[in-house]
Amino acid sequence: MNCALISVGTELLFGQITNTNTVYLSKRLNELGINVYYHFTVGDNCRRLEEILNYAMKNTDLIITTGGLGPTQDDLTRETVAKAMGKNLVLHRPSMERLESFFKDLNRSMCENNKKQAYLPEDSIVLQNNKGTAPGFIIENMGKVIISLPGPPKEMIGMFEDCVGGYLREKSKSTIYSSVLRFFGIGESSLETELLDLITKQENPTIAPYAKEGEVSLRVTAKAENENAAMKLIEPIVREIRSKVGTYLYSDQDEELVEVVAKALMEKEISISIAESCTGGLLAGRLTAVPGISKCFHAGYITYSNEAKMKMLGVGQDTLDLWGAVSEETAKEMVLRLREKTNSDLCVSITGIAGPDGGTEDKPVGLVYIGLLYKEHLTVQRIKAFGDRDRIRNYSVLSALNMIRN
Ligand code: ATP
Ligand code: MG
Repeated sequence: MNCALISVGTELLFGQITNTNTVYLSKRLNELGINVYYHFTVGDNCRRLEEILNYAMKNTDLIITTGGLGPTQDDLTRETVAKAMGKNLVLHRPSMERLESFFKDLNRSMCENNKKQAYLPEDSIVLQNNKGTAPGFIIENMGKVIISLPGPPKEMIGMFEDCVGGYLREKSKSTIYSSVLRFFGIGESSLETELLDLITKQENPTIAPYAKEGEVSLRVTAKAENENAAMKLIEPIVREIRSKVGTYLYSDQDEELVEVVAKALMEKEISISIAESCTGGLLAGRLTAVPGISKCFHAGYITYSNEAKMKMLGVGQDTLDLWGAVSEETAKEMVLRLREKTNSDLCVSITGIAGPDGGTEDKPVGLVYIGLLYKEHLTVQRIKAFGDRDRIRNYSVLSALNMIRN
């Protein structure tokens, strides 16, 4: 089943309001296994709405309109949709009664134009509005379905959840289910190259990579009758992906790297302390944002200046003079001294050049050393991050987390 969404309202075209209805409906329809082919936005204008309705009816099975069901002159969705489907508007008594009692409860008299909200296309399924006055409706005709919902998001969502979701689930008899795999240490294009034959030969599930600040995700999406059946399609594909690029995979549950790392530390009860220079506490901040980490997190030092590295940690002046603050030796000494201070199982240090200034030919902006001392095992990784200051600092934190994970 495929679908077009039509948002009605001149205020949308003026940019006065954000079209949140379309975002909401697209997500929900996708979950229901309905392909959304088009998003249309049209002003409060009969002729243009009719043109779009006709186009959408030619090219899709299902149309959902939002907006224009109110009582005022500019609300013309009811009559235009009825006309496009070849239906008359007829009085729907229960809706009229609801309107009357609504106004009676408010102690207000009902205007003539409010009554127009109770005139709905003949033979339609009427959708009661539990959050406002305008009823919605579903019309089925010659294999096509049009569903008209009110514009105010609260009313629209209420009506969708109360009535439309169930109706569509019955109709589409399929669902879309996605698994999101997250990777670190491999670029989007390399990942796509590694998996190219898998990506191109797949129809169901489909595999789509997308990149986000230093990380890449793969969305594996299957269409099936229910979640179990979808998972049966997804699982073998995930196994194949794992066998090809599993070393970079850190989560098959769409989790953040920091969550995965924090969970592992908590499970294994590993205590951790951190000494940061160029990231200025960013790593400690991310880790301590995870609830429950107090079980493991011991101390975070921000030793930004050389003086702080010496005074707070005890890094030797000779090390800093000889090798510089951004060096393997300093990163190493930072974790060794941090261990003496804290006695944590795992000590991590970060020192680098975040830019935009301060780079030289042999120590360019983006050069970062990460030291890691786990029990008696010491490693230092040299990384070269790209981009502006924010990106370099973020990538340094992710790299440190990835080292911890391994
Ligand atoms: P009403 O009875 O309030 O007139 P209606 O069904 O006629 O309802 P509209 O007049 O089109 O709906 O829109 C009413 C209000 O709902 C808009 O002013 C806007 O705040 C909100 N709205 C309408 N369409 C959207 C949309 N696509 N996304 C977000 N908000 C919307
Ligand atoms: Mg209106």
